[in-house]
Amino acid sequence: MKMSKMGIHPEKSAPKDADTINHRLLVQAGFVRQLMAGVYTYLPFGLIVLRKIEAIIREEMDAIGGEEILMPMLQPAEIWKTSGGWDHIDVLFKIKSRTEKDYALGQSQEEVVTTVMKEFIRSYRDLPRAIYHIQWKFRDELRAKSGILRGREFLMKDMYSFHENQEDFEKYYEVAKKAYLRLFSRLGLTSKVTEASGGGFSEKISYEFEVLTDAGEANILYCDSCEFCVNVDDISKYKVGDRCPKCDKDDLKSATASEVGNVFDLGRKYTEAFDLSYTDQNGEKKYPIMGCYGIGVTRTMGVIVEKFHDDKGIVWPKNIAPFLVHLVDIQQQEEAEKIYNSLKQDGIDVLWDDRELSAGAKFADSDLIGCPIRVVVSARSISAGGVEVKMRNETESKIIPIDKLSSFVKNV
Ligand code: ATP
Ligand code: MG
Repeated sequence: MKMSKMGIHPEKSAPKDADTINHRLLVQAGFVRQLMAGVYTYLPFGLIVLRKIEAIIREEMDAIGGEEILMPMLQPAEIWKTSGGWDHIDVLFKIKSRTEKDYALGQSQEEVVTTVMKEFIRSYRDLPRAIYHIQWKFRDELRAKSGILRGREFLMKDMYSFHENQEDFEKYYEVAKKAYLRLFSRLGLTSKVTEASGGGFSEKISYEFEVLTDAGEANILYCDSCEFCVNVDDISKYKVGDRCPKCDKDDLKSATASEVGNVFDLGRKYTEAFDLSYTDQNGEKKYPIMGCYGIGVTRTMGVIVEKFHDDKGIVWPKNIAPFLVHLVDIQQQEEAEKIYNSLKQDGIDVLWDDRELSAGAKFADSDLIGCPIRVVVSARSISAGGVEVKMRNETESKIIPIDKLSSFVKNV
């Protein structure tokens, strides 16, 4: 992408109302704009990152047998009355139509997915099933804050699984937990797994995937030597300095964290409420056990910025950076054009700052946007034998011959 062709650019100064790093940097670097508290527009760079995060999540969900669908955001009140959510879920946005009918905006999709899958799950032969979608959610959060970490409208991946019995569910629960750890690590994040009570959903155990960050709202105790972690709000069994009950190698430390995902055992709550039943091998009517598996896609993007930045801007992990290469030319338009075209031909995502700006201004924007590799082409670099290459997370640069640039970039 050529920056001269873009209508949306980074800003020189940070927004004044930002309460967190992700809000400040994502706005200043031109990834998002806030429309009102907790509601954001995703600008071109922001949308690229969001789609890259989604793609990784999608690959991991497909790999564990997930089937992707897309469920509606606008939902009839009836299904929320059937599940009891209409009167009990305080964050549910309710809408009255001019026809006097009531509707809700999806805050989660158990009600819709059971309504849909009722038609397709009839016999034990139709189980197990895992259905997911990536869709915007609406929640009447009292305190929408921390940039895109807590929104009133936010993107979530939610998967729902259906099983003949508890044993089959437990097996899949383990598979899904492993997929979560793998996908968060592909996103550059180390997530800790907490055991928590099921909250509003059920009395059963649920697991939260927490990433340590000062911007998070969860108070946790965690172990440095293994994935053990507990939410202090839920579990008073442990305190700071206790020996880790899981690996016995380290003492528990306290930290704040952000919940990027969670998995729940829903039991038969929804399948019974919506009469989603199947006929077992003996011809008897049974209700499947259901699980649900959420990931806050937009929150994850915010957490990544909280974890990966410095005083100059964002430092995107390679897998989800808006572009792998940020090409900056200092009055070397012609040479830069050749490099830009050849990198693109080699399948490399490249952003070219071809604007009429000073070198200093271009470097500042490049640091702010945070692509992993900065390539500078200037009269000086050419006389030194090529282009000047610097990693966003390093301070030293080096000269790479132009004909070696593609293979260098591919090996990063
Ligand atoms: P929290 O405790 O943070 O409110 P939750 O328990 O309400 O989260 P779920 O309803 O299970 O979360 O939603 C699944 C995932 O969606 C969460 O793990 C989180 O990553 C994300 N999420 C939840 N609420 C928000 C929100 N208001 N803004 C952005 N992401 C959210
Ligand atoms: Mg919540």
